[in-house]
Amino acid sequence: MRTVAEHRAVVAALLPRSAAATDLPLTEAAGRPLAADLVAGRALPAFDNSAMDGYAVRAHDVAAASEDEPVTLPVAADIPAGRTDTPPLDPGTAHRIMTGSPLPVGADAIVPVEDTAPLGGPAPGTPPANAVPGRVAIRRAPTAGRHIRRAGSDVTPGTVVLEAGAALGAAQLGLLSALGAPHATVVPPLKVLVLSTGSELVEPGRDLLPGQIHESNGIMLAAAAREAGAVAEQAHFVADDADAFLSVLRSADADLVITSGGVSMGAYEVVKDALAGRGVEFVRVAMQPGKPQGAGIVDGTPVVTLPGNPVSSLVSFEVFVRPALRAAMGYRDTERPRRRAVLSEPLVAPAGKTQFRRGVFDRDAGTVTTVGPPGSHHLRWMAASNCLLEIAADTTALDAGAEVTVRDLTV
Ligand code: AMP
Ligand code: MG
Repeated sequence: MRTVAEHRAVVAALLPRSAAATDLPLTEAAGRPLAADLVAGRALPAFDNSAMDGYAVRAHDVAAASEDEPVTLPVAADIPAGRTDTPPLDPGTAHRIMTGSPLPVGADAIVPVEDTAPLGGPAPGTPPANAVPGRVAIRRAPTAGRHIRRAGSDVTPGTVVLEAGAALGAAQLGLLSALGAPHATVVPPLKVLVLSTGSELVEPGRDLLPGQIHESNGIMLAAAAREAGAVAEQAHFVADDADAFLSVLRSADADLVITSGGVSMGAYEVVKDALAGRGVEFVRVAMQPGKPQGAGIVDGTPVVTLPGNPVSSLVSFEVFVRPALRAAMGYRDTERPRRRAVLSEPLVAPAGKTQFRRGVFDRDAGTVTTVGPPGSHHLRWMAASNCLLEIAADTTALDAGAEVTVRDLTV
């Protein structure tokens, strides 16, 4: 029997790191991993600007200002956001300025509007809503540099702001845009084809005869592959017929084929029958659920054969396929985050097998509680869980209160 780690390595070796990179508009790049480190080509902020709505001043001019004895300055200019011809600030004057507007040359402090009072009528020509006062009373003295965002205080040119393999989420896409990039160089998704097998399977929406069941692994594994960052299609599932299976497999155009079912120890094991001796090695892995596994290259295409029991199938995908797929696509985070948790109940586990139990991790309490029995057909409990609890092969019992590690399936 193989260990979980050994089979992980076999599956990982099927999928070498993709060398492909493509430029995508940011609107299409969400979720993709960066193909290379992202080096900032410019500074952020690009220019010294105001952090407040208020007045740009020379701190020295208003050093004596106080609530009781304000210093009054003429307002010489107005600098709304977007003004590109900011005039310099002459000594003894103030400019009205808005958040993000460029600091005029000569100014070294911003007085927030809350610390000022307008005096005199509006300057001619300003619309009433935005009226600029002719003079302003400064009621609190700012220190030099107050409320100024300096050029480059967030990003200096030449800085690596995102590393290769970083997935482009909301903040990363925002940063790229702020740096002026309309697109990003990312690793394109690998193509996964999911092929379910079983003569008992019937499409959801159709009536069942006694002994038939609705097919559920196809959509589940395809969704899992998409969530891992791949593109995935489902081949229409096939009956337990090696020729039918092989003809669908031969027409596959994918970077990875994932099959479900037909790999156990019984008769009618269609995947085993069709692929044994054709490049796929069928093995037993010391784990529960998910013992029967297979992996190999068939006519140049990597194939991973997962067991048919729905929970086995999805747990096997999590443990073997997801990390391999993400590593091949260049994601920096190939693994689910591991969380330390306190077990809320005693558990027993089989000797000699790594057991994966479905659990609910309570982040606030820092506890994990298993849901449902260990059996591999309890899909309902898989759907109710948010983590997998991995119990080492040599552990046969855990006490309530034991410190364990869980894989967080929500991230
Ligand atoms: P197998 O691995 O083909 O022996 O299947 C093991 C169990 O999983 C059987 O109860 C099958 O009916 C079930 N099963 C296999 N494939 C699927 C599937 N695609 N959707 C739902 N259940 C399945
Ligand atoms: Mg089957």
